[in-house]
Amino acid sequence: MARYTGADCRLCRREGIKLFLKGDRCYTDKCGVERRPFPPGMAGRKRPRDSEYRVQLREKQKAKRTYGLLEKQFRNYYEIATRQQGITGENLLRLLESRLDNVVYRLGFAASRDEARQTTRHNHIHVNGKRVNIPSFRVRPGDVVAIAPKARDMTVIKAAIISSARIEVPGWLEVDVEKLQGKVLSLPQRDQIDIPVREQLIIELYSK
Ligand code: SF4
Repeated sequence: MARYTGADCRLCRREGIKLFLKGDRCYTDKCGVERRPFPPGMAGRKRPRDSEYRVQLREKQKAKRTYGLLEKQFRNYYEIATRQQGITGENLLRLLESRLDNVVYRLGFAASRDEARQTTRHNHIHVNGKRVNIPSFRVRPGDVVAIAPKARDMTVIKAAIISSARIEVPGWLEVDVEKLQGKVLSLPQRDQIDIPVREQLIIELYSK
């Protein structure tokens, strides 16, 4: 599966906000956005023109980069969202939040979504007692997501749980840190998704 392999901090600097792509480092003064609060590249310090298209594009890039997706994958989620009932923008965010790698991250079993994706791919995650190694697997209400028994003593998992203690588990999930498992109570409502994205602008961009 293709994925972005460049520097994560460049992505945050391009969007001008912290996207929390690197786990612990994001909470220290080594954070790229705090050290160099301007876009990367030669023209980084020039003030960009604020066209309608540019504003919509930046919102889409922000969401896409937060969840670590490539354009085609992100566009596919948009297509699914348009076919669902309800508000397309909210449907889109709900689909992104219900990815297994995001849930693993939200439950605090990984320090970042990137790490959650790797943990999942390496067969360290069980859903309802069965191994699932597909990061894009879509969870449903009632699903139980757990660290596989063989992975429970892994240093990376223990470190992630310690470091993620600072992050609040959203209300649509329930975590049992002792058992290293969590439950999906419901799919998230818009006010339970804390990413700073104006999803309506993404829909406007794709509907052109
Ligand atoms: Fe973004 Fe984290 Fe890098 Fe800061 S440290 S720029 S939040 S990826």
